[in-house]
Amino acid sequence: MRPRNEPTDAANREYVFKILRFDRRNDQPPRFARYRARAQRGMTVLEALLKIQEDQDPTLVFRYSCRGAVCGSCGMVINGRPDLACRVQLSTLRSHEVLLEPLPNMEVIKDLIVDMEPFWEAYRAVEPWLIADESHGEKEHIVSEKNRARIDSYVNCILCACCYGACPVLGRDDRYLGPAALAKLYRFLEDSRDRRDWRKALERVDAEHGLWGCDTVFRCVMACPKHVRPTDGIEGLRRRLVIEKTAGLFRRRRK
Ligand code: SF4
Repeated sequence: MRPRNEPTDAANREYVFKILRFDRRNDQPPRFARYRARAQRGMTVLEALLKIQEDQDPTLVFRYSCRGAVCGSCGMVINGRPDLACRVQLSTLRSHEVLLEPLPNMEVIKDLIVDMEPFWEAYRAVEPWLIADESHGEKEHIVSEKNRARIDSYVNCILCACCYGACPVLGRDDRYLGPAALAKLYRFLEDSRDRRDWRKALERVDAEHGLWGCDTVFRCVMACPKHVRPTDGIEGLRRRLVIEKTAGLFRRRRK
């Protein structure tokens, strides 16, 4: 994951926040509003937003929940980079001017809140759950340490959509499934407990709006706050698809 700057002592410094304001219920075009806030030691972008909302402008809206980089709710673009507002300390930013915008590739509902339905729709499309062998019954499904290590980073996805916002393909093709959904599919491909019909599952994403849409420019990898590497997962799915197709060709020849 790309490093932010080393933290500096931001305590008591004044920061200028330029925040993109928009409300889709009004006719008004988007505009930047400016706020000033004094930083306290270790203050995050989310904490600054809460302070601005409380002291200066209660109409400013943004999404958040856990405040600990676990729930994935507070994804936004911070000085040009998608990230979690609760994770980014002001002291790690290069400038005392902080530009905040909603995540791209999704419709803005209000201010920093986007409509994540397209992201969820793509996610649901890949059936992102374990499809285990039913004859196994209630018994525990054991995963070897080696297997778990292969899927570890993909399990860490918190569905924040930072990768979805960073993806250049989604900027031109809103039917593209996007990095998070495909990375999740790869997570189950590599999971030894998953017993889905992988030939069919891969056929469903064997499309320009699926596996082959990815430009492999790694923007999703750079944007992910949880070290997931969606591009690698997409490459893994492509490899398996090619193997399945080649095996299918041989099967047909033998008949
Ligand atoms: Fe967020 Fe990373 Fe998951 Fe994308 S892959 S949704 S950036 S945690």
